[in-house]
Amino acid sequence: MAGPTRDLAELELAELESALAPLDIEPYRAKQIYRWVHRHAVTDWGQMTDLSQRHREALANTFTISTPRVTARSRSSDGTTKFLLELADGRRIEAVYIPDSPAHTLCVSTQVGCAMQCTFCLTAKMGLERHLTAGEIVGHVRVLRSELQLLEQPINIVLMGMGEPLHNYKATMQALRMITCTHGAAVSPRRITLSTVGILPALSHLANESIMPNLAISLHGTTEEQRTLLLPINRRYPLSALLAACRTFPVKRRNRITFEYVLIRNVNDSPADARRLAGLLAGFRAKVNVIPLNAAPGIPYERPTAEQIDRFGRLLAEHHVIVSVRKSRGQDIRAACGQLVLESDRASPGQQLASFINPTVTANQVTEP
Ligand code: SF4
Repeated sequence: MAGPTRDLAELELAELESALAPLDIEPYRAKQIYRWVHRHAVTDWGQMTDLSQRHREALANTFTISTPRVTARSRSSDGTTKFLLELADGRRIEAVYIPDSPAHTLCVSTQVGCAMQCTFCLTAKMGLERHLTAGEIVGHVRVLRSELQLLEQPINIVLMGMGEPLHNYKATMQALRMITCTHGAAVSPRRITLSTVGILPALSHLANESIMPNLAISLHGTTEEQRTLLLPINRRYPLSALLAACRTFPVKRRNRITFEYVLIRNVNDSPADARRLAGLLAGFRAKVNVIPLNAAPGIPYERPTAEQIDRFGRLLAEHHVIVSVRKSRGQDIRAACGQLVLESDRASPGQQLASFINPTVTANQVTEP
């Protein structure tokens, strides 16, 4: 007899309700099942104690529940922990846990690798292997909440791990609907931040979504030329058009767009850059998150000195920009995006070389929703 074929991890609540009808299970049971899987991270049918034996058997014969598997973790002296997770097809992604008060933060992935080719990022060197499914995005959040014993605690989620969320728009939005579902993990959209390089057609779709995460824009440059050097996607969606789109983006009351700015020595860290950045953001409800680069082998850039970092932050503040300079969390475990996967791949140099010389998708092949 063939085993279960349908993956329950991929289903939204309404889809699960419909999928129960042929099994002669009442629709309201979907909410119970959803709570077990997505709130309590229980994927063993036998532990779903408010379901009858007949229901459990019917469910077990019909559904699998794919769950990413933690295969490695490294914990920094500051508590930041980086996880390597294996998906059902053996591909690997990473996620980072940043302990903090009042809420703990999970930095999660939306793709295996990335197509955006940002020149300061190690994940970029992998190219894009594939998009994550909605179930895989939700699944690694579920696994980490369980592993870290955060099932009962409020968490923040930042879509800043591997991948560009708006390049995997459909799955990312489905994942957000599932993560925020009140019968599941019930994470408030106010606690979710989507970080993007600014794929403009997708950004305009996002502006009309019912579930609206906080928006973080990877800016990183103050002129078209400088931003194109760091983010090749800027050729297709230039800085000027991106800022115009941000001006009309529906920012929630008492909220601001975060502009991320990776600070790189002698590239974008001059006083003129700081002044230009302040000028670009004049009139925005914005805050700037300055992220001093974590230097890494294979990345052709250096971290600015502490004085340069301080000077940049102070100049922004003097120009009335709300600014925070990110603490370097997890530096001793390489918690910057992509680093764990690549280090682990050193065990298979052929594979790693292939991903360097033959990225499967380039920034020019970006698909739009
Ligand atoms: S910085 Fe983000 S968008 Fe750019 S290549 Fe790395 S993972 Fe992709």
